[in-house]
Amino acid sequence: MSEAAALRAQKLTRQILWALVLGAAFGTLLNFLIYGAHIGWLGIDWNPIPALAAWLQTYIVNGPLKLLGGLFKNGLQLLVVPLVFFSLVAGTAALRDPASLGRLGWKTLAMYMFTTLIAVTVALTLAMIFQPGAGATPELGAEFIAPEAPSLLNVLLAMVTTNPVASLANGSMLQIIVFAVLLGIAMVMAGQAGERIANFVGDCNEVVLQLVTIVMKLAPIGVFALLATAVAELGFDTILKLLKYVALLAFCLLLHLFVTMPLLLRFLGGLNPWPWLRKMRQVWMFAFSTSSSNATIPITLRVAEDRLGANNKVAAFTIPLGATINMDGTVMMQGVATAFIAQLYGIDLTVIQLVTVVGMATLASIGTAGVPSAGMIMLTSVLAQVGLPLEGIAIVLSVDRLLDMLRTMVNVSGDVAVTCIVANSEGQLDKDVYNGA
Ligand code: ASP
Repeated sequence: MSEAAALRAQKLTRQILWALVLGAAFGTLLNFLIYGAHIGWLGIDWNPIPALAAWLQTYIVNGPLKLLGGLFKNGLQLLVVPLVFFSLVAGTAALRDPASLGRLGWKTLAMYMFTTLIAVTVALTLAMIFQPGAGATPELGAEFIAPEAPSLLNVLLAMVTTNPVASLANGSMLQIIVFAVLLGIAMVMAGQAGERIANFVGDCNEVVLQLVTIVMKLAPIGVFALLATAVAELGFDTILKLLKYVALLAFCLLLHLFVTMPLLLRFLGGLNPWPWLRKMRQVWMFAFSTSSSNATIPITLRVAEDRLGANNKVAAFTIPLGATINMDGTVMMQGVATAFIAQLYGIDLTVIQLVTVVGMATLASIGTAGVPSAGMIMLTSVLAQVGLPLEGIAIVLSVDRLLDMLRTMVNVSGDVAVTCIVANSEGQLDKDVYNGA
């Protein structure tokens, strides 16, 4: 990256950081004015003025805030399919030998599974030790109708599309990945004809990257609006009631982010974790404000390649795949939530049930789409598998907004950490860029 571009990136990061802080502050103010504040232990008991609350809800939250946040999120999502498709086809075609693609694929899958297993095991163990649900009552939740979670068989079957145009149109990420990789391999096999197309696809990729730059210019406004809306609608009262669950899960997520992942980078990847931690900031801000691994892909890809030095041949494959199947934060939520719900209903989980939770959560994360709240839908399949009451979901759902933001940060961080480790093991990580300022 040139010096001017680096300075521009730094300025943008600072602006987005301010947008986050101001968005959170403005959102908190709106929340108090709309819902009032009842914090017993601080002696605060304040009821909102109905006319003002209604006005703010209609003309501020449901008006400009949702419009600006929504436009920005749409802008990000608009980039995802062209970006993933072109960059993955170009990346695969540039790999040239299918054997290295196979190795890359297996390594990446194994690493994604491994980190997911660690995440869910740690979360479940801590939840069994700290018992966040002991002593609470299950009355907190509203009535809950469990949505249907897709079965693993269907998820696997649907990986190969029967209609690539439809997959691109619907943004079905796994299908797009499989199709793009096959197309890239076919282009290598087709010799000169393939090379001509590869050049064209490479050019398309360049153009789409410029599109990313345009959308990123709007990021400070978009992030402000997204965060203000999210905080304005947070149920602070409910969070306080479920404080033990929220605090334990937040602790698990931060532990994974700031301890487990740096350790993996150091001991599995042989990499200094500090540059990674420093450069992940921009990805975190987007993941946090959008609650969507998918919508964050343009930024995740850019940081992994431009700032951490992972070659496009690796990152173009591992990042979209990770955003779709690797969800360390989500499985942590599923582990803690399952233990919490069991404790809430006074059900002791047997060792077999615990192992089932680990296995089910890991498999369920593959089928979880990288969109807001998707993890909750998959939680139904984990609970059903161990025979826990599905109504328990209503309780954890009431505080899920904030936790979704946090776990999405962890989800995308896992993708970038694995990308760096795998790229380094393949000799595809530029160490100067990785360690650079
Ligand atoms: N929002 C998460 C993500 O996009 C998925 C989830 O709900 O756990 O990564």
